[in-house]
Amino acid sequence: MEIKKYDLVAIGTGSAMLVVDGFLRFKPDAKIAVIDKDEPGGICLTRGCIPSKLIIYPAELLAEIKKADEFGIDVDIKGINFKRIMERMRKIIEEDIKMIEEGLKASKVDYYRDVATFIEPYTLKVGNNIIKGETIVIGSGSKPLIPNIPGLKEAGYLTSDDVLKLDEIPESLAIIGGGYIAMEYGNLFARLGCDVKIIEMADRLLPNEEIEISKAVEREMREIAEIYTSHRVVEVRSGNPKVVIAEKDGNKKEIEADEILVAVGRAPNSDILKPEMGGIETSNGWIKVNEYLQTTIPRVYALGDAIGKHMFKHVANYEARVVLSNILGMRIAINYKAVPHAVFTQPEVASVGMKEREAINKFGKDNVLIGFARMEETGRGLAMKANGFVKLIVKKDGEILGCHIVGKDASILIQEVVLAMQNDIKVSGIINSMHIHPALSEVILWASSNLMSVDDYAKLSKNFI
Ligand SMILES: Cc1cc2nc3c(=O)[nH]c(=O)nc-3n(C[C@H](O)[C@H](O)[C@H](O)COP(=O)(O)OP(=O)(O)OC[C@H]3O[C@@H](n4cnc5c(N)ncnc54)[C@H](O)[C@@H]3O)c2cc1C
Repeated sequence: MEIKKYDLVAIGTGSAMLVVDGFLRFKPDAKIAVIDKDEPGGICLTRGCIPSKLIIYPAELLAEIKKADEFGIDVDIKGINFKRIMERMRKIIEEDIKMIEEGLKASKVDYYRDVATFIEPYTLKVGNNIIKGETIVIGSGSKPLIPNIPGLKEAGYLTSDDVLKLDEIPESLAIIGGGYIAMEYGNLFARLGCDVKIIEMADRLLPNEEIEISKAVEREMREIAEIYTSHRVVEVRSGNPKVVIAEKDGNKKEIEADEILVAVGRAPNSDILKPEMGGIETSNGWIKVNEYLQTTIPRVYALGDAIGKHMFKHVANYEARVVLSNILGMRIAINYKAVPHAVFTQPEVASVGMKEREAINKFGKDNVLIGFARMEETGRGLAMKANGFVKLIVKKDGEILGCHIVGKDASILIQEVVLAMQNDIKVSGIINSMHIHPALSEVILWASSNLMSVDDYAKLSKNFI
């Protein structure tokens, strides 16, 4: 078999493509191979961020319309055309995928639509080809994690990939998991009229968020869905409906549903990539990297979900820029100082940096201040009945350690704090910046100006936890 040699080999067409594009700009004559077993564009475009947000938005709009009455507007909702919601999503995604595919085919890179498997260092088997890369970038992403629950496979289940293939809203849906993917889809289907039941092992939904944030989301979700926290799914029974059996304190609860969505986390793709055959070390299947995103094999880099750290598209894109710089000979270390994320539920959630407990553990209670403000303290928030808040975590010297927001446009509001944290701007920098009055963004200003001790915040937050 002929061995094909390349200057750069990229595995995955998600953020790894940013490395390819950048490399080509600097080295237009380079020989490059791009490999992806699936449609090009990566999970974000084909099965993740973009399609999910395209179908979540109509549910958000519906909820807004339903609230119109509170603002003096009478509306009748005649119906929801789920098929049209899904078709719109598929049309947009398919157009983008096609554009990327045509771009790849027209470019001078060799594009392989196949599985890549390491057979030795710097060497991959791709279909019937053997490919060697002078430099290799692993951007192989992740896939839905399927827990080993007796009866689950036999009963059948959906993953976040399968949700995008639905044409009808299930009558009822049991969701195993209460993390961000579970909550985004739970919120979507519940708002579209499906009888949603969310089963989470932890004692609260969104267990990685601040407790006040989890509780705020949970309160709203309980209005539209059945929530079972502290429940561990121990068995699934086939049938029509299917039965999910969940255990809490030794008591078993039978939860019936037409469909089951499994959303308990993500798993690495190392089973097919076999990085260990290429001398690349992994930890539970996630590729190990150093601060320069180099794997244990020097000219093999990894980024994005494949390294299993912060599994978000904006992180993968940032890591791609670091990998590109390092491949081009710079020595740029990764900096995870201000990694934000959002959960597109209603209410929306956004967060960056340390939580209160982490800050206290690191700096001591007396060195931590909490800033707090409600969205309704701003004019726009009042106008919108924006029932949310901002919690800012600040070190006594003014350094911003974290920020946690729940409510309208949380994902937009957090960005001011991300900018400040990334650039070492202290809380005074926010206070000294004019904020447009009476925009919702004033809530960040009010939280920054309303710093209190951890104990005082504990007294205040008792009312809403
Ligand atoms: C439902 C859902 C919603 C999400 N929403 C958001 C969001 O709102 N915001 C956000 O920031 N993030 C979101 N994410 C996460 C985001 O999609 C990922 O973090 C991001 O896509 C990771 O990019 P990547 O470049 O690491 O890999 P990916 O984009 O996953 O690309 C990896 C590609 O490699 C291919 N591949 C894997 N192994 C091999 C192999 N051995 N050979 C050949 N090809 C291979 C895969 O098929 C895939 O196409 C969401 C994810 C999901 C599932």
